[in-house]
Amino acid sequence: MERLIAGYRKFREEVYPERAEQFAKLERGQAPRVLFITCADSRITPELLFQAEPGELFICRNAGDIVPAHGDHTGGVSATVEYAVRALKVTDIVVCGHSDCGDQVLKLFAHILNEQVRPGDVVARWGGDEFFVLFDCELKDALKRAQQIASRLSTRYEFYVDGKSVTLPLRASAGVVEYRTGESAADLFRRADQAMYAAKPKTPRGNSPE
Ligand SMILES: [Zn+2]
Repeated sequence: MERLIAGYRKFREEVYPERAEQFAKLERGQAPRVLFITCADSRITPELLFQAEPGELFICRNAGDIVPAHGDHTGGVSATVEYAVRALKVTDIVVCGHSDCGDQVLKLFAHILNEQVRPGDVVARWGGDEFFVLFDCELKDALKRAQQIASRLSTRYEFYVDGKSVTLPLRASAGVVEYRTGESAADLFRRADQAMYAAKPKTPRGNSPE
């Protein structure tokens, strides 16, 4: 923390006076042209990477640079996007990913999931810790396969924190729905999400990848 306080002091005493004119201009308002959405990862420094000046990038960050689908709940990301587009009228939106993103448990989970599916199945991540798999088969078979995958995914996950091994038991739940001719992808995903929650055992311990 002291490092940061010293940094701020240096900014006030050395950097700010040098750029006083620039900051005085920004005091009167901002007009960034770019909404920049990226990961919270500390190794990403948008201004440094793109040599951007204060006032140039309107930035939204979270772990995994996740932008949830528009829904009934308004969160920080939707508010940021709406403000950028409607109030600031940005001309460009950049979603900037990076290599080696995501926490270790989720990566292991995705890896096991990918090993369980067949060629032709489509796997997609949904939100923070939910996945969709599109099976080209009958509902009955899809249910059987989804349950097999969920049981394979319900296991102990070993990962490393500061070089130390940690194991975490996770339980996966699977819900299955059949595509209805003419329905939108959003409706299909919403029904699948509801089916997954309906299949979830009611226990106080939640928060595991589904
Ligand atoms: Zn990341």
